[in-house]
Amino acid sequence: MSEYDFDLFVIGAGSGGVRASRIAASLGAKVAVAEDRYPGGTCVNVGCVPKKLFVYASHYAEDMHDAAGYGWKVQPPEFDWNTLRDNKNREIDRLQGIYRNLLSNAGAKLIDGRATILGPHKIEVNGETYSAERILIATGGWPFIPEFPGREHVISSNEVFYLDTFPKRALVVGGGYIAVEFAGIFNGLGAETHQLYRGPLFLRGFDTDVQSFVAEELQKKGINLHFNADIERVEKNSDGTLTAHLNNGEQLVVDTILYATGRRPLTENLGLDSVNVTLNDNGTIQADDQFQTSEPSIYAIGDVIGTPALTPVALEQGTTLAKNIYTGTSDTVDYSNIPTAVFCQPNIGTVGLSEQQAREEFGDIDVYRSTFTHMKHTLSGGNEKTLMKILVDKKSDRVVGMHMVGAEAGEIIQGLAAAMKMGITKKVLDSTIGIHPTAAEEFVTMREPV
Ligand code: FAD
Ligand code: NDP
Repeated sequence: MSEYDFDLFVIGAGSGGVRASRIAASLGAKVAVAEDRYPGGTCVNVGCVPKKLFVYASHYAEDMHDAAGYGWKVQPPEFDWNTLRDNKNREIDRLQGIYRNLLSNAGAKLIDGRATILGPHKIEVNGETYSAERILIATGGWPFIPEFPGREHVISSNEVFYLDTFPKRALVVGGGYIAVEFAGIFNGLGAETHQLYRGPLFLRGFDTDVQSFVAEELQKKGINLHFNADIERVEKNSDGTLTAHLNNGEQLVVDTILYATGRRPLTENLGLDSVNVTLNDNGTIQADDQFQTSEPSIYAIGDVIGTPALTPVALEQGTTLAKNIYTGTSDTVDYSNIPTAVFCQPNIGTVGLSEQQAREEFGDIDVYRSTFTHMKHTLSGGNEKTLMKILVDKKSDRVVGMHMVGAEAGEIIQGLAAAMKMGITKKVLDSTIGIHPTAAEEFVTMREPV
């Protein structure tokens, strides 16, 4: 008999926590998971899933417009926010149920409540104390909104999914994943949309061609981009509208202001002062490549440790951790060539290095770039363009970066990421026969470097 109530006590039933719990329980460990908000975590409740549903919703206006060129007579479409929000809520409720079942079917005990660490092997939830041989912190992150006068009038990604009314005019602040995705959502669903970014060009860290191409495409779709601009203060007007006073002297009057200015690790009131867990300067939890913190019985995975904040990363870490502990392996997670998609419109799909990074790392590189109009738009009258880019290390012929902005870029890049992981060379890419007629075939037919 173990001296502890549980072998593993997981704090947080999000992407990483649920995965680690399920695998550990299936390997015979006695597992408890505490969750104080919503089973499934950020991704299922206020992240990837509802966001992607909203992206689908927001694309219909353009699809209906495009249909006219193909002979469809479409009445001017009308959008009902309440229907979308409520249908989305129902789907999220269903998914929460599935996550509960996933845990109970695996034999892990879900405890609804906020967990506080009391010691290296001790946790408290809802006034009850539990002991565990190991504790796993998988508490994720939380939206960060900087301080400024009128901050109380703006919302974060947590609230945007539950708005009572859909805004006629929306302002999105930030230039990262969430900001560009929501600028596209607001715009597609019919709001006059403004996006504000503090620097000269948003999507910092992405390939510069991707950054500028996306900026052009978003503007073509009607999004008002304001670069080198930030909010100084926000005022609430008597009619309920908001006036954003910008640092360039401009004023914008809107109905909703969404701040998407990054996320911070969620460690507040977690009880970390009762144990020897070291934090990094940015507040994330320090964990080694086996996810062990400086307190040997305490582990951490997911957004809270500051690795790329993506669900598939948290899932992989959860699997690796549970297998390592309960089968005796000591595998590590490979963070190279992580593909990602940004679901702005059109999507970004990317894997590997940007052109700048590739030049720094390899010096001599070949750049293959193609921009074209998707075949669909020959009849639709749409003016959306597609960008594809391949970066090749000249010496080894290895493909070191692939980028796309265009319809279904995320879907297309996923397979190419597998090829890159296998070390695909440009020669092999060139010898791959295309699928015709698709946009994706362009990736195997670019012959001349620019
Ligand atoms: P989370 O999923 O955040 O789970 C942490 C859980 O811990 C939460 O449920 C929380 O309630 C719980 N918790 C915290 N503290 C306690 C406590 N003390 N006691 C009990 N429970 C606690 N990633 C993608 O890959 N693709 C996308 O398209 C994508 N879209 C996103 C869109 C948005 C708007 C956001 C905000 C994020 C998006 N992400 C996306 C990122 C993704 O959601 C996160 O990387 C992922 O959820 C991280 O998983 P996690 O397990 O670390 O934490
Ligand atoms: P990001 O880190 O991607 O972007 C934050 C943005 O806010 C940046 O443009 C940043 O500017 C800006 N910013 C930061 N602080 C301030 C400030 N004080 N004032 C004004 N602007 C500021 O964070 P997000 O919130 O968009 O998303 C969090 C993470 O969630 C992402 O990094 C991603 O890992 C994940 N995610 C993934 C998605 C996907 O896979 N499709 C979708 C959504 C989220 P600067 O660049 O100048 O620092």
